[in-house]
Amino acid sequence: KARNSHEPEFLQAVQEVAETVLDYIAEQDIYNGKNILLRMVEPERAISFRVSWVDDQGEIQVNRGYRIQMNSAIGPYKGGLRFHPSVNMSILKFLAFEQVFKNSLTTLPMGGGKGGSDFDPKGKSDAEIMRFCHNFMAELSRHIGPHTDIPAGDIGVGAREIGFLFGMYKKIKNEFTGVLTGKGLSWGGSLIRPEATGYGTVYFAESMLQTKNESMEGKSVVISGSGNVAQYAAEKVLHLGGKVLTLSDSSGYIYDKDGVDAEKLAFVMDLKNNKRGRISEYVEKYSSAEFFEGETPWGVACDVALPCATQNELSGEDAEKLLGNGCICVAEGANMPCMPEAVHKFHEAKILFAPGKASNAGGVATSGLEMSQNSLRISWTREEVDNKLKDIMKNIHDNCVAYGTEDGYTNYVKGANIAGFVKVADAMLAQGVV
Ligand code: NDP
Repeated sequence: KARNSHEPEFLQAVQEVAETVLDYIAEQDIYNGKNILLRMVEPERAISFRVSWVDDQGEIQVNRGYRIQMNSAIGPYKGGLRFHPSVNMSILKFLAFEQVFKNSLTTLPMGGGKGGSDFDPKGKSDAEIMRFCHNFMAELSRHIGPHTDIPAGDIGVGAREIGFLFGMYKKIKNEFTGVLTGKGLSWGGSLIRPEATGYGTVYFAESMLQTKNESMEGKSVVISGSGNVAQYAAEKVLHLGGKVLTLSDSSGYIYDKDGVDAEKLAFVMDLKNNKRGRISEYVEKYSSAEFFEGETPWGVACDVALPCATQNELSGEDAEKLLGNGCICVAEGANMPCMPEAVHKFHEAKILFAPGKASNAGGVATSGLEMSQNSLRISWTREEVDNKLKDIMKNIHDNCVAYGTEDGYTNYVKGANIAGFVKVADAMLAQGVV
């Protein structure tokens, strides 16, 4: 704690894992005296670097770039890149730490990492985004590779940014390899990768609901965010017969009493992905909706809540509102969106609650499938990838149930942490103190 006292998000993530795995470690003779968790919380490598670039006015701008290579016990480092002004060491270390457990849960051979920059893509032209991405990769390329570290997208890094990053990596290395995932379909990408995190979150929620003989059919669903994860979570809820009541961005949320249907969702996708507009524009087009500036959607009555925007976006008070309105299931699409007090309240009320490292693992799992296709130089069909994704999410769900159930209630946080820990810890033990 002392070593990382200035990193609150990282401490929050580590504390949550420690609270659930330390008892388990104490019961297992093989982990005794090995200081496994102490080793896991120290990144194998943390790189920070200057990214200078020229804006459209000809001014030189400087941002800070990062890559945290957290743990490579079970495979090369794997995890997204985030471009957002809030990015710092604490946030990236929390994300990289979570990623280690998440990747382990997918059952695919991937270690954990995370990176990004405090660069703010909002309001930048395509040319500025390209120059930034190229300069960012000029340095990052020294530290990554298809057998070392394979970054992907995250907040602020989508298909456009991955394209620019890949272009510069290829130029520097003179190699066409699967060094990034989330690539375009015609240059090594996988079908279903854009959809995978959102779809996977809803598959996971469906598996949880099934344990109570329930399903998504007919449920009202509150979603935060309107980016990659939120869009495809909404799409899958619609496929399964649920009703999507809300979407949001950092300026507020929209509530559509008639539900966001497929046509309205297509409007949101175009607004966010092509026009790069604000969610408030939704109410100019659809009169069934209202916009609530500066607010989060957790006060809207629902059966299921899917926080899909960012960390610490759902407080203890928000959890009380959800519970008071009869919410029975919360699955995190984002990483650590629920604050510890909120998670505590969900557990107390014994509702279904899935932590992001389990429920949003579909994105990185499908990135793993993209890596396999790149290595084999083949492309699987949509159905093949979607079926593999469904199997992986079901497997993660069942693993959480196996490790997290006590007196008939499944604590998915505990289940995910222990199941994720065991595989990495065993690999670290086998490889010795390195
Ligand atoms: P996007 O950039 O596509 O979308 C992010 C969304 O969240 C936007 O609607 C954005 O609004 C909103 N948001 C971001 N920061 C804040 C904030 N501080 N306050 C309120 N709203 C905010 O990112 P993704 O959809 O890819 O990522 C969303 C979450 O899912 C993140 O936690 C990410 O780590 C996690 N995740 C993503 C995966 C992926 O495959 N993409 C995989 C696993 C997890 P605005 O546009 O106004 O900023």
